[in-house]
Amino acid sequence: MHYDLIVVGGGIVGLGHAWAAAKQGQSVAVFDDNPRAEGASIRNFGMVWPIGQPEGTQRALALRSRTLWQELGAAAGFPVHPCGSLHLAHHEDEWAVLKEFAPSSAADGLDIELVTPAQIAQMTPAANPSGLKGGLYSHTELRVTPPTAVSSISAYLADEHHVQFHFGTPINQVDSGTVTASNGKTWTAERIVIATGAYFQHLFPEAHRAQRLMLCKLQMMLTDAQPNGWNLGPHIASGLTLRHYPSFRACPSLAAVKQRIADNAPQLDRFGIHVMASQVDNGGLILGDSHEYGDDIEPTDKAEIDALMLQELQKIMNVPTWNITRRWHGLYAKHPTQMCFVQEVRPEVLVVNGFGGNGMTLALAFSESIINRWRNSAQWEVLHETH
Ligand SMILES: Cc1cc2nc3c(=O)[nH]c(=O)nc-3n(C[C@H](O)[C@H](O)[C@H](O)COP(=O)(O)OP(=O)(O)OC[C@H]3O[C@@H](n4cnc5c(N)ncnc54)[C@H](O)[C@@H]3O)c2cc1C
Repeated sequence: MHYDLIVVGGGIVGLGHAWAAAKQGQSVAVFDDNPRAEGASIRNFGMVWPIGQPEGTQRALALRSRTLWQELGAAAGFPVHPCGSLHLAHHEDEWAVLKEFAPSSAADGLDIELVTPAQIAQMTPAANPSGLKGGLYSHTELRVTPPTAVSSISAYLADEHHVQFHFGTPINQVDSGTVTASNGKTWTAERIVIATGAYFQHLFPEAHRAQRLMLCKLQMMLTDAQPNGWNLGPHIASGLTLRHYPSFRACPSLAAVKQRIADNAPQLDRFGIHVMASQVDNGGLILGDSHEYGDDIEPTDKAEIDALMLQELQKIMNVPTWNITRRWHGLYAKHPTQMCFVQEVRPEVLVVNGFGGNGMTLALAFSESIINRWRNSAQWEVLHETH
């Protein structure tokens, strides 16, 4: 009942801290209110995405996470595919952005190259050749199947590192050294990490609100397994995606892409739509996504958003079956200006949250640095980076 570390939240941020501490020989317990993790960490694309991270600390963390995912996949026995990613340009302005981005970014840890339509055809059967100007291939992105990865990590930590998992156990009070569940039961620890993702209303809501965390809702779809071993190859991202990730912000031609969308397809801006595709282990394609923030978030999903996403995907991709077998939405919490936030809300109690759409890409390396710095009594502030 007494641990070196207690983690509240069994998503990738909580699991990252649990793994980093357990590797150092610490005794660890993880609490999650659901019978199994059901938050953003099992609802995402499974893209480990250094290409989308701005140069500097954030990209370095993404690249470190890449190494950690491969280590963890091998140890825990779940597939981690080094599939890479391909941004497709079907408009001249998108192609101009890729040509500006490629030379400026190659030096900062990315392994990227501009590719012609003929080269793209060798990399993936999915790219629509009609109107295709070229693409940006990046070697660094990984693919995991999120529910498999998250459950495998939990099982591995329990079996090999003796981490104790308390699923179905909502924690409704945390003080220095103590967590209390809704049934009144308490557990104690030297240190506590609170990683409750979008569900931060119950523990230190005022600390989360003070950070002006934004909630974001994303709609997603999964196709049937593609037939006959059809293989997507790299993750596919669209020209629309260039509007979304901060890594492309420095490209002068991005303004023309944004203006064209604002003039010709304002509904895509309204719902924050940019389209991507990732293949899961059973052969289906995860398709998405949209972004609705704060007060725009409704509990139900909008058929209009799914239709718009499919329409945009079908402009840039040809796949054997578009039959949708699953639809869902996920929620994440995003810090408005930083890649995330860390706050010591009580002595030896840390809140770690706000990774937005980058938690799968950043959490493993970020958690590792938190656990290392905690051991060395370093300051938290140095981990923040504005983007
Ligand atoms: C649709 C979608 C697509 C995405 N795609 C990608 C992607 O491809 N690549 C990428 O890098 N990132 C992606 N992200 C972002 C990424 O999924 C998140 O940043 C990350 O999963 C957040 O992890 P977390 O552990 O903070 O939150 P969560 O996974 O939501 O975990 C928090 C957990 O805490 C539990 N909890 C909350 N309160 C309590 C309490 N009081 N007591 C006990 N347990 C509690 C919850 O039940 C939950 O299981 C995507 C997100 C979404 C929604």
